[in-house]
Amino acid sequence: MNNNEKKLKVGIYLRLSNEDKDKNNKKDDSESIKNQRNMLIQYINKYPNFILIDEYCDEDLSGAGTYRPEFERLIKDCEKHKLDIVLCKSQSRFSRDMEIVEKYINNKFKEWNIRFISLSDNADTEILGNKKSRQINGLVNEWYLEDVSNNIRSAFNSKMKQGELISPFAPFGYEISPNNNNKLIVDPIAKEIVKKIYNLYLTGLGYTSIAKYLNKYQIPCPSLYKYQKGIKLNINSNKPREKIKWNTNAIKTILTNEVYIGNLIQGKRTTVSYKNHKIKIKDKKDWIKIKNTHEAIIDEETFNKVQFTIKQRTKPNKKTGIVHFFSGKAYCLECNHYMRKKNSSKHEYLVCSNNRDGYNDCLNKTSIRYDVLANLVLGAINNKIEKFYDEEELENLDSKKLDNRFKKKIKSLVALRTDIENKISKTKNYLKNIYEDKVNGIITLKQFKDLITNYNKDEDNYKDQIKLINNEISHYRMKEESGKKNKEIFKKYQKLEELNRVVVDEFIDKIYIGKLNEETNTRDIQIKWNFE
Ligand SMILES: [Zn+2]
Repeated sequence: MNNNEKKLKVGIYLRLSNEDKDKNNKKDDSESIKNQRNMLIQYINKYPNFILIDEYCDEDLSGAGTYRPEFERLIKDCEKHKLDIVLCKSQSRFSRDMEIVEKYINNKFKEWNIRFISLSDNADTEILGNKKSRQINGLVNEWYLEDVSNNIRSAFNSKMKQGELISPFAPFGYEISPNNNNKLIVDPIAKEIVKKIYNLYLTGLGYTSIAKYLNKYQIPCPSLYKYQKGIKLNINSNKPREKIKWNTNAIKTILTNEVYIGNLIQGKRTTVSYKNHKIKIKDKKDWIKIKNTHEAIIDEETFNKVQFTIKQRTKPNKKTGIVHFFSGKAYCLECNHYMRKKNSSKHEYLVCSNNRDGYNDCLNKTSIRYDVLANLVLGAINNKIEKFYDEEELENLDSKKLDNRFKKKIKSLVALRTDIENKISKTKNYLKNIYEDKVNGIITLKQFKDLITNYNKDEDNYKDQIKLINNEISHYRMKEESGKKNKEIFKKYQKLEELNRVVVDEFIDKIYIGKLNEETNTRDIQIKWNFE
């Protein structure tokens, strides 16, 4: 070994990744470029024959290695023998892609006589056996994870069967007991909002109308409420919290969740396997439902009434097979009560609900034929659509271009995410194959432990990256949607031939039906659109 005599030209490769940025925000910059550089230079200084030749630094924020100009320059310089040593903080800084590691570190670098050293994972291509042990250890980690994952699963299952809450998030209306992480207790403020929602539904309002009502009175939606209370949220969003509002889905979820009568239903979802984290919805019969695990907010009678009404409101008419389009939408222009449906042998009608059971309060007594109203509404929606297309012709093209840019951005982010997901499974499979092909269990406890730590770090990094990408995607989706949401609704439809519930929901907030003018045989019908 004549290392001490021969001068060795060292190139350091630095990579700033998204996870570093995140850590910077938390004032932990141990991973930052500056520290990477210091760490590597300190190492170089320990060896008098090491000379720093060049620094290569990528801001590969995605971490997927799709665009790394400095990496390419490094490879070119290696090929031209400008360097003897490539020095990195860790192998994963060099690349997370097993194929690239294999191609360069284990092949080309040998061919070009380049030595690769990474500090935190003790990799050094000059030391024999280094490669194998790292590969073995990666695989052992995989088995370790599999075991852990199975153990966690069975522990969760038995908890669920005992009626213990396993989610760290409480459904709206409840909070997690400070004395017992597995138990729900009532949140006295949110509880009132839940009750209000059930009551509003039973007075005839639909999901959308309830959401609008709550937003109008500035009642915070679940995520805003939790945020205001300082509770950790189970969603990632770049949207300012104050802008998150009640929506149809949130209302529907609350109106159908048995948690409010004191039952806990868990185990609805599972992941495909410990390797594949895709969520799979289980069959309803496999859900774990335990009754009376916590205090109810809604009594069972009210809950059942609501479930019954939900079915009724969306139940197809026996004769026509058509779902009632206007339930929760049609109101009396005179008195504001909802329009009730009634049937005769020939036709279906809507009539002001204020006029039944001996009450005689409303002037709007004559019913309106259902099919007549449906035709009127259909005509009105078609007018809107037509008008939209006329206006759109006139709009400038710039906004369309903008639209496309967001779409492209989202598309590339989705591709990036798939890429990372593939890499996660590829890395694991790769190690498994190598192991099965070449070696048979030679590993020390220390190696085992070290590599579990490394492996978990990598896994965490990947997950962080995916999280960040998801954030970015939702950010662009929001941008894309804002101001264009209505346009999208229109674009789904050309001219409508007939009405359906979905269309009515998308276009119409409320329809007000006035009383019949008997002289002219006409009545005032006003449509309140979801947008202008
Ligand atoms: Zn009325």
